Amino acid sequence: MTSDSRPTLLPGAPHTDRRLFLAGTATLAGMAAVGLPLSGIARAADAAAEVADLQKAVKGQVVARDTEFYEPWRQSMIWQTQKFPRRPDIIVQAESVEDVVAAVNHARQSKRRITTRAGGHSFCGCFMRDDGMLVDVSRLSTIEIDAARGEAVVGPGVIGRRLQEDLARHDLAFPTAHCGMVPISGFLLGGGLGWNGNAWGGMATYAILEVEIVTPDGTVRTASERENPDLFWAVRGGGPGLFGVVTRFRLRCYPRPKAMRSHTYIFPFTSAPDVAKAMEEIGPKLPLNVELIGVITAAPPGLEKACSAPGCDQVLVLQSVAFVDTEQQALAGMAPLADHPITKLALVANKNAPETFENLYYGNEVPFPQRRYCVDNIYADGLAKPIEVIMRHMPHSPSRVTAPVLLYKGRPDMPDGATATKGNFYVSCYAQWDDPAADKANKDWLIALYEELQPLGTGSYINELNQEGRPHRIRECYTAEGWAKLAALRAKYDPERVFHTFYGLEPQPRQS
Ligand SMILES: Cc1cc2nc3c(=O)[nH]c(=O)nc-3n(C[C@H](O)[C@H](O)[C@H](O)COP(=O)(O)OP(=O)(O)OC[C@H]3O[C@@H](n4cnc5c(N)ncnc54)[C@H](O)[C@@H]3O)c2cc1C
Repeated sequence: MTSDSRPTLLPGAPHTDRRLFLAGTATLAGMAAVGLPLSGIARAADAAAEVADLQKAVKGQVVARDTEFYEPWRQSMIWQTQKFPRRPDIIVQAESVEDVVAAVNHARQSKRRITTRAGGHSFCGCFMRDDGMLVDVSRLSTIEIDAARGEAVVGPGVIGRRLQEDLARHDLAFPTAHCGMVPISGFLLGGGLGWNGNAWGGMATYAILEVEIVTPDGTVRTASERENPDLFWAVRGGGPGLFGVVTRFRLRCYPRPKAMRSHTYIFPFTSAPDVAKAMEEIGPKLPLNVELIGVITAAPPGLEKACSAPGCDQVLVLQSVAFVDTEQQALAGMAPLADHPITKLALVANKNAPETFENLYYGNEVPFPQRRYCVDNIYADGLAKPIEVIMRHMPHSPSRVTAPVLLYKGRPDMPDGATATKGNFYVSCYAQWDDPAADKANKDWLIALYEELQPLGTGSYINELNQEGRPHRIRECYTAEGWAKLAALRAKYDPERVFHTFYGLEPQPRQS
């Protein structure tokens, strides 16, 4: 796994080899030699000329479909091991905002629709579409910290772990995603369920103070509460339906908690309904700076026996994490969990463990390694019914490492933005497997689970919605007013429909 959001290129495909675009021309001879139809050769020649023109305007790499290194480039854009078979005409890896402007102008003029990719972590690979242009901004990855103001100016290619490490040197912190390798860009634009989210703004997107964004007309704009506030509203949650490329974020950061601590309890899977009920009781008693999260996962070595009831070779790991400055505050904050009778059912308890962000990242990256994924979620006000459905479906999961997650959100006050959190709990499930032959079984299983869960919920979160399998649920990630406002803003800023909208909501025409 890479520690960074940049594509890992296969040997022979360097980041900056300008000769790559010539590969299109080079293959022409080969195509003629193997007797490809002349119309195909003419199209390839046109494409090579077009890419050569674009390459002159762009410092970064331009890679065209049907050229030698296209497939390694395309695959390297996708973080997981499932490499969705969708093929944009052109991939542009931007080195600067000027590159992004050139790419957007070129796409508009050549009538190619654009998607943006920063870290490629989208579980459904929503940035990877047939035809059009993929603009990769992973190399815009600078971090500038203004410690006095408690702010950071950050490129979209920065990953959470790196931002956290840099901020720590200034005694600052940020509500990054729970896995450190998740880039901040798509995470923030889709909403951002980050560490200590309840205390740090509700959703991480509200820590965005300002963005630099290239809009479909090729203009570089600033969006903030004061400048282009309507566009700023869309930036805070528009996510995979956003009509522009964000090239820089100015972020509000928070004082670094000096004494983070956690309590962790491991329960047999069969106790999940009791644990879920306890989470409903404990959650509202916790201060905002204590996070409560449960993960159903394969039983760790040594606990398999205790979890050997039928359909029960898994455990529920329940953890509270206190983002505080003293051990005393941590123990007081986490007392509603430590004092709850549910803890007596735990097979293992690890109390008052000192925590670091790196430790938290590591703990979350182990159960979510690079493999094939399909992910879905609902927000819900209670857990009783959702856990009953999960318990019924889990024994039939085609994969033993598939992991449902229960996160207490509460209802922290949040400003207005496109993102819409509508429930006390976030209930997600990370179907994961390795064998491509198991794709259909795992995806069908997850769709069935969430079609049963959806009516029990209050909405969904766009960044972890199964846009591929349940596109009819995309609008449930927004309020009715928010959805209409997003559509009106798209019509205003992108009248020519230069940008693709949400994956799953539009047909995917192929040109060839
Ligand atoms: C292991 C793992 C753990 C995760 N943990 C969390 C978590 O704790 N909390 C959480 O909220 N989410 C989590 N996620 C989901 C994550 O938020 C999304 O996958 C998010 O899209 C990742 O950001 P990215 O930059 O890789 O986006 P990409 O996959 O690169 O892009 C996804 C979409 O975002 C839009 N986009 C991205 N960057 C830009 C930009 N600069 N300008 C315009 N549009 C852009 C595009 O529409 C694009 O199609 C996790 C994902 C993974 C794989």
